[in-house]
Amino acid sequence: MKALERQHLKDDHGPFDIIGDVHGCADELEDLLLLLGYELKTTGKRGKRKVKLRHAKGRRLIFVGDLVDRGPANMDVLRLVMRAVKDEQAYCVIGNHDDKFLRWLKGRNVQVSKSLKTSVVEMKQESAKFRAKVLEFLDNLPSQLILDHGKLVIAHAGMPEPWQGVENKRTRTFAMYGEVTGKKDGDGYPVRANWARHYSGKATVIHGHVARKRVRKENKVWAIDTGCVYGGKLTAVRWPEKKTVQVQARKAWFDHPRWR
Ligand code: MN
Repeated sequence: MKALERQHLKDDHGPFDIIGDVHGCADELEDLLLLLGYELKTTGKRGKRKVKLRHAKGRRLIFVGDLVDRGPANMDVLRLVMRAVKDEQAYCVIGNHDDKFLRWLKGRNVQVSKSLKTSVVEMKQESAKFRAKVLEFLDNLPSQLILDHGKLVIAHAGMPEPWQGVENKRTRTFAMYGEVTGKKDGDGYPVRANWARHYSGKATVIHGHVARKRVRKENKVWAIDTGCVYGGKLTAVRWPEKKTVQVQARKAWFDHPRWR
């Protein structure tokens, strides 16, 4: 029942800063955290960096997942988030890229795509101890979080109302991949369906997964992946204020045919 308990955090009302898909963009993440008012204690150079964080006003972070893949400093992002979660300064849900990386760490037969390769190459430079810590961290991430007395739902690709708080294989897959049609587009990527169009739930759902130039809001569903790793922005949404705070990517780190 441990996984289920972790999802039901209804008493915690924040305040939170909800962070979109980071994808290894460690510099931009630090830029954003400083802009949000977090105090960062850093040691070590990029690639071996450790960051300890806190907010003077008691704000805490929520990551919508996809910490790794495609970006330049995937392990530094993991180090920062793992430390913040351990220090009870952050929550995190699992994204599809984190899950694939986890399966690779477990020695499963996964295809090492151009995206996954960026994380794999970095991990091969790390110690066995760090590798084991990452495996344990990713393996224990919930697929959804329900916060602020049920008013806020976080899942990497969102969650329709009937499945909010329900943890099973089907809801976990939805949380990571969203609604897909079963069809592939011209580039070989799954064609997505727009579940948010029909959403009439009471809770505000905040998710990442689908990268676009702007934050989208539809029927209390917020999509906050603004494609930092493709040269877009890294977005935070402040809760309960519902204000967005963004930083510009330092450069386009990865080319993706779907970015527009
Ligand atoms: Mn993503």
